[in-house]
Amino acid sequence: MNFDELGLSKTLVSRLESLGLTKPTPIQEKAIPHAMNERDVLGIAQTGTGKTAAFSIPLIVALSKQNERAGARGVRGLILSPTRELANQIVDTLQSITSDLRIRLVVGGKSINVQEQQLSRGTDVLVATPGRLIDLLDRKAVSLANTKFLVLDEADQMLDIGFAHALRRIAGALGKDRQTMMFSATMPKMIADLASEYLTDPVRVEVSQAGKIADKVTHAVHFVTKDEKKSLLISLLNENKTNRSLVFARTKHGAERLMRQLEEAGFNAASIHGNKSQGQRDRAISNFRDGSVKILVATDVAARGIDVPGIEQVFNYDLPNVPENYVHRIGRTARAGKKGDAVAFCSAEEMSELRAIEKVLAISVKVVGGKPWSDEAYKKAKSAAKTATKNAAASKTEARRNSRRKEATKTGAGKSGAAGKSAAGKTGAGKSSQSKPSSNNRSGQGKRKRGPKKAAA
Ligand code: AMP
Repeated sequence: MNFDELGLSKTLVSRLESLGLTKPTPIQEKAIPHAMNERDVLGIAQTGTGKTAAFSIPLIVALSKQNERAGARGVRGLILSPTRELANQIVDTLQSITSDLRIRLVVGGKSINVQEQQLSRGTDVLVATPGRLIDLLDRKAVSLANTKFLVLDEADQMLDIGFAHALRRIAGALGKDRQTMMFSATMPKMIADLASEYLTDPVRVEVSQAGKIADKVTHAVHFVTKDEKKSLLISLLNENKTNRSLVFARTKHGAERLMRQLEEAGFNAASIHGNKSQGQRDRAISNFRDGSVKILVATDVAARGIDVPGIEQVFNYDLPNVPENYVHRIGRTARAGKKGDAVAFCSAEEMSELRAIEKVLAISVKVVGGKPWSDEAYKKAKSAAKTATKNAAASKTEARRNSRRKEATKTGAGKSGAAGKSAAGKTGAGKSSQSKPSSNNRSGQGKRKRGPKKAAA
C-alpha cells in the first residue's frame, strides 16, 4: 500500500515522498483511515513504528479541511507528550509535513511569559508537556474549550512520570466536540481507564507487542562485576569507533560520571539527564544527530523521544528497574525497519532485572561475556547492595545533622558575639536557631519529592 491509497491529497503525498515516506508503516496503514473517518483511535504502538506521522497526518488533514482560525488563546489541535524531547521531535515532524499551520511548542525549561505571549494570538497545533500546559491553563493563557483534535502520545509514559493528575485536569478543560487519538506502547488498566475518560467509541489498532520490536534487535549480555563495567564499555566502544552509541545509566549522577570517564578515555561523549538544562539537552541531541558526538549517555526519562537515525548500538550499562524501559531503550535503535544491537552489562545484583526483561520480551539474551551469576552470588550482591544503601542513607542523615549543628553554632556564635561574647550560642539562642533550619529543611524535602514530575515537563 502507498500513501495515495489512504485518501491523502496529491500535495500531501508528494510532500511525504520528498521526506522519504512512500509506504505507510503498519501503524500508519491501520490508524490513518479510521482517523480520516473522524473516529477516535486507540493505538497500541511502540516508539519507532512511525506513530508520530500516524497522528500528525490525520491531524493536519482535519485542520486544513476545517479551514478555521483559532481565536485569541484558542488551540485547534493539541498534542500531549510526556517529555520535552519527544515534544520537540513531534514539532519537527509536523513542520516537515506542513508549513500552513501555526505550530507552537510549550514545555518546561523555557520562558513561560514568552509562551503566554505566543499563545495569545491563537494556535493551530499546540505540542505540550502536561505540566507546563497546566501552568498556562492556570494563568488563563490558553483555552482548550474549542480544541477539535487531541492526541495523547506515549500515554503510558505520561502516567509513569506522574502526569495522571495533570491529565485529569486537562480532560476537564477540553470541550466535548472533538476527535481524539491516543497512543501507548503498553495497555495496563490505568491506560484503559484513561482511554475511557478521553476517547469516545474508539477504534483500537495495534501493531506490536513488547516482544515484536525486539525481533529486529540483536540482544547480547556480558556478565561483569560493577567495577568491570567501565573498562568493558571503553573496550567495546574502541572496537566500533565509527558507530553511534547510546549508553543508558540508571541515575543522573551515574550518567554524568560515566560521560566524564568516557571523555577522559578520549571519546567525544555527551550526556542527557534531569540535571541538564533544556538548552544543554537540545545541544547534546543535536551534536549526537550531526555525528560530532558519537556517544550519548542518558537516563531513561531524558532519553524518551530521542529520534536520532542511525543509532547502531544501545548499551544497557545499568539494567532498567522495569523491563518496559528496556523496550523503550532498544526502541532508539532499529528504527524504521533498520537493525540494531542491544548490549547489556549485568552485574550479580542485576540478575533479577535481566530475567524480567527476558520474560516480558519472551527472548533469551545471548551471553557474549562472562557466565550467568549463581543464585548465591545474586543473593550476596543484593544483600550487600541493601546494606550499602542503608549505610549511604545513614551517612547522609548524619552529614545533614552535622551541617545543621554547624549552622546552629554559627548563628548562635554570631548572636553571642553581638551580645558581647556571652555563652548564648550554647544556650537558648543556639537551640532556637537549630530548630528553625531543621523545620525548613523538612518542608524543603517535601517539595523536592514532588519535583521530578515537574522536572519532566
Ligand atoms: P516514530 O515511531 O514516529 O518515532 O518514527 C520512527 C522513525 O520512522 C522516524 O525516524 C520516522 O521518520 C520514520 N518513519 C515514519 N514513517 C515512515 C514511513 N512511512 N516510511 C519510512 N520511515 C518512516
